[in-house]
Amino acid sequence: MKRRPIVAIDGPAGAGKTTVSQRVAQELGYVRLDTGALYRCVALASARRGIDWSDDSGVTKVAEDLAKRRAIRFQALGDGNQKVLVDAEDVSVQIRDQAMGQGASRVSAIPGVRSALLDMQRVQGSEGGVVLEGRDIGTVVFPDAEAKFFLTASPVVRAERRYQELVDRGQSPELEDIIREVKERDTRDSQRPVAPLKQADDAELVDSSNLDIEEVVTHIVERVRAIEAELGV
Ligand code: C5P
Repeated sequence: MKRRPIVAIDGPAGAGKTTVSQRVAQELGYVRLDTGALYRCVALASARRGIDWSDDSGVTKVAEDLAKRRAIRFQALGDGNQKVLVDAEDVSVQIRDQAMGQGASRVSAIPGVRSALLDMQRVQGSEGGVVLEGRDIGTVVFPDAEAKFFLTASPVVRAERRYQELVDRGQSPELEDIIREVKERDTRDSQRPVAPLKQADDAELVDSSNLDIEEVVTHIVERVRAIEAELGV
């Protein structure tokens, strides 16, 4: 049987990947896999075990252990959101704070961590009909994905979105700090030797600086439907 496309949505932090991938998956009836959450879970599990994010071999062991035991699970909620469970504990909120974002960015630069999480992503995506959100989906995890998008926006626009998200959650961040963090994370993600953040040659660039989410979603859904038609699925 022909399988439905694999949709890769890569791009830097704050480009709108999460909202866009949720909406695209919902409209297409596809499963969504938030691969950043996997790295965030490794950062959280390491911190809880008292392992420093700079301890490459310690963090790699944590990632290998989580992968081997299939300890990280996603549970779809009706509204397109999902719960993230580690050893059956709901860590959806803890993994979203700024510190875990920084931690994920640190641990994701460790080659052993990336390879421990690679199989997990491939197994979950290989049947198609899936939207994977990440940094290296179109370049490393599924280089043959049928639909690849590189979603970006200017650093200031991305920092402003993140700022608003934190304010909506009742926090009182400083915009200047967030702009600095966004830029630091971009530098770390794009300059690391393993699986750096970069647009795949065959990915379509979507710059959301001046587009709203609806326009981005509509565009991606139309593209994927055209690819489905070409594939005859
Ligand atoms: O997308 P999110 O902000 O949750 O990702 C957290 C961090 O995990 C990113 O800054 C990036 O360093 C890392 N990551 C990655 N590869 C992915 C997804 C996320 O390196 N496929």
